[in-house]
Amino acid sequence: MEKIYDVLIIGAGPAGITTAIYTARAGLKVGLIEKGLYGGQLHNTDEVENYTGFKSIKGYELADDMQEHVESIENIEHIYGEVQTVRKRDDDIFNIHLETDVLKSHVVVVATGVRYKKLNVIGEKELESRGLSYCAVCDGAFFRNKNVAVIGGGDSAVESALYLSNIVNKVTLIHRRDSLRAEKVLQDRLFEKSNINIIWNAEVNEILGDVITGVNGLSYFDTTGKDYAQSMNIDGIFVNIGMIPVTDMLRSFSRLTVNHEGYMVTDESMETLTSGLFAVGDVRRDSVRQVVSATGDGAVASEDIIRYLRGKDLLK
Ligand code: FAD
Ligand code: NAP
Repeated sequence: MEKIYDVLIIGAGPAGITTAIYTARAGLKVGLIEKGLYGGQLHNTDEVENYTGFKSIKGYELADDMQEHVESIENIEHIYGEVQTVRKRDDDIFNIHLETDVLKSHVVVVATGVRYKKLNVIGEKELESRGLSYCAVCDGAFFRNKNVAVIGGGDSAVESALYLSNIVNKVTLIHRRDSLRAEKVLQDRLFEKSNINIIWNAEVNEILGDVITGVNGLSYFDTTGKDYAQSMNIDGIFVNIGMIPVTDMLRSFSRLTVNHEGYMVTDESMETLTSGLFAVGDVRRDSVRQVVSATGDGAVASEDIIRYLRGKDLLK
């Protein structure tokens, strides 16, 4: 007899972990699949100051707490691997293809989150991990007492600049407009820092350096068209220009389920138009991309997953 899970959850970030906790506590047969570290993006975060109940907690500590919680619950099977494709069969069962295995489930929950968006400029690909990084918390320590640039104007870029300002000599934040998108409280902290300088209305068009010695500068142009292109010497570059959804494994589904940008479209119960296929957390088009909303999505989805399985007579 083939083994069929009630629910297979792809991704053990805050959203996937919460879905696993709720569905397992409801007595479902749950599998939680993760290709990396439990906690997802929390490992790239320094302090989390807006998750209810924690005035301030290190990202990795919150990740560890979530992992410990989910591992303490019985009837969750923890599966290490990277999902390659998901397909729905004619008998309504999903086949989830890992590198060497195919798992089967009545319900699939996509909790794969987002990954860093690239600048797509000359030199970026070649100099990645050679002075160019997307994660200040991961790589900031390599630039102690050096000069770095951060590109972007959202929460991630401003948080990176603040984090780096405590390690490096000087941070230059480069933003393509004349105002930031980041939360006001973060902006206020940024403007107070004496070793952070901001270049407004500037778009980076080349990362300078070579693969042997690494990054040594960047060039940019003025988006208002007033100034000529300029370049600057810099030891390291952090690109924080937003995120893109991780949905490559869902190629077989229509644009009504995975939209043209790759985000998952769900109703308010977190179910997609493909019945039995749910999405939670940052991967959803309508997510506000916070830890608290990711965990909230998991709780909401669980209710509807139970209803779905009952409706199919798969649960008492
Ligand atoms: P993720 O955390 O992205 O987790 C997705 C998981 O899925 C990952 O573990 C990944 O490895 C796994 N996965 C992906 N593809 C596959 C696959 N094919 N097979 C198996 N596993 C897979 N939010 C706040 O509320 N407060 C903050 O202070 C805050 N700071 C942040 C700072 C930074 C620098 C960043 C980048 C984000 C920050 N966020 C913050 C946002 C917050 O981290 C996210 O909203 C939250 O982690 C989303 O959770 P998730 O479970 O949806 O996705
Ligand atoms: P974001 O909010 O989408 O901001 C991306 C920034 O990069 C914007 O300022 C954007 O400019 C700029 N940008 C986009 N494409 C660019 C390009 N090609 N070249 C130059 N600049 C470009 O992304 P994010 O800051 O990574 O945040 C993602 C999500 O995670 C958000 O929902 C955020 O709230 C959340 N997050 C939360 C926290 C927190 O709560 N403390 C921390 C980090 C992240 P424009 O402004 O001109 O569009």
